[in-house]
Amino acid sequence: MFPPPNNVTPSNKSHIAVQHLIHQFINNQWVESAARRRLPVMDPYRQEIIAEVTAGDRQDVDGAVAAARHALPAWQALGGKQRAEYISALADQLTSRRQTLMRLSASNNGKALAEAGIDLDDAIACYRFYADQAIALEDRQGRLVNHQRDDIQAQTYEDPVGVVGLITPWNFPLVTSAWKIAPALAAGCTILFKPSEVTPLPENALAEIAEAIALPAGVLNLLHGDAEGIGIPMTTHPGIDKFSFTGSNAVGERVMAAAASGARDVSLELGGKSPILVLEDARLDCAADWVMAGIFFNSGQVCSATSRLIVHESLADALYEALGERIDAIRLGDPLAEDTDMGPMTSRRQREFVERYLALAREEGLVAVRDAGHCQLPGHGEFVAPTLFRDVPKESRLWREEIFGPVLCGRSVQSDEEAIRLANDSPFGLAATVIAGNIEHARAVGRHLRAGSIWLNSEQLVMPEVSWGGFGISGIGRELGTWGLSEYLEIKHLIGR
Ligand code: NAD
Repeated sequence: MFPPPNNVTPSNKSHIAVQHLIHQFINNQWVESAARRRLPVMDPYRQEIIAEVTAGDRQDVDGAVAAARHALPAWQALGGKQRAEYISALADQLTSRRQTLMRLSASNNGKALAEAGIDLDDAIACYRFYADQAIALEDRQGRLVNHQRDDIQAQTYEDPVGVVGLITPWNFPLVTSAWKIAPALAAGCTILFKPSEVTPLPENALAEIAEAIALPAGVLNLLHGDAEGIGIPMTTHPGIDKFSFTGSNAVGERVMAAAASGARDVSLELGGKSPILVLEDARLDCAADWVMAGIFFNSGQVCSATSRLIVHESLADALYEALGERIDAIRLGDPLAEDTDMGPMTSRRQREFVERYLALAREEGLVAVRDAGHCQLPGHGEFVAPTLFRDVPKESRLWREEIFGPVLCGRSVQSDEEAIRLANDSPFGLAATVIAGNIEHARAVGRHLRAGSIWLNSEQLVMPEVSWGGFGISGIGRELGTWGLSEYLEIKHLIGR
């Protein structure tokens, strides 16, 4: 439909062409980055370089901020209904490119193809939801406030926060970005978007789509690069009004510190160490299925992974046995193969990070129900064996810290009260799952948990209408739903006679 923005040369090794992502998308132009530094982009299954991406440069950020600031007044003035048309067009483009993007995501991220399909559907649903929200926003501008004085009229308007800087991690390319870009566009903000340098390939499509749908110039600027090249220059740039960041706690705190200069707003979606509670009356087969889905989806690289299993002592032995059987049945392999259940870790760095915890587990003498000793790993790829430890001490770092891999730690309890206490004994508070004999019992326990999303007798259901975000150190603010839109809006009242 349009010329490829970044040079594409065929690779003699890989199944896909090696791309050179050395252009930034600024003001609807593909501008060669001022940076000399390049970073390799890997296929973590084939362990091959499938692309190189620019590390980015402060000059790129300067250009993108200027473009976004220039575009802001007209994009705001366009109104929610017209903005909705662009957002819907973006969803249409993702839909028509679904198969290609699934394969790109599976190659670059290492996730199984079926999971990449779930991601695409999630992203598309998110854009469609916020297209509707943009229309609703226009409809409610200027609504009257009920108050006690007859001689005064007060009206509410919701204006865009301004130019926003959006920064995402590598575990859910196209999804995490959708959760930010869609509401920011709906609100009337203009955007600098920095995807993770680990998974730039699927995200680059968003710039191609912006060009294809003729999104007004400067509304969406996509900057490739790492922390030094783009992340830090972005968060320290005074021309950006707000940041929305998803990633690790350590970096989230740095983004927040940078945003303090100029009292800029910040939303943070950070880590988790979420519990899954299997109560005394739970059905064992359902419990085993939901425990598996909660920890092994996306090879455990999920911020809401339910990595702490809290099981009633009467069910513990049978549950561990059922989980062991299910773990044995996981098919590890090529993310692009239809019959693969679980792919590799997304990067060597992440595999090594998880392996350090497994070494610690050996030092601590943790009891493994399943680990690498029970599993034949594929001959190549950044794989970690699906691992399950039981009776893990509360003091263990494996019980307390986010591992971000396919590692589940279990403990037994004697009552619901003890399960609730143990579940809440964490500084994180992103998510939780409760499995019980009926929904009333699950809900009664769920009401006592400190977390943003609590699933009852289910897998981790994520819907664009329902919020996402955490208590405690899991973050600040909420994404998705009407709450996600509010993160990009300033409330304004016009009051007078
Ligand atoms: P990360 O914090 O290392 O990087 C995230 C992004 O920030 C990347 O784009 C990176 O280039 C950028 N970055 C790094 N340093 C920066 C700096 N100083 N200034 C500005 N930007 C900088 O995280 P990651 O390893 O990519 O992702 C894993 C983490 O993300 C996990 O802790 C996980 O729990 C978290 N996460 C949270 C959610 C959620 O919704 N709560 C969702 C997905 C991932």
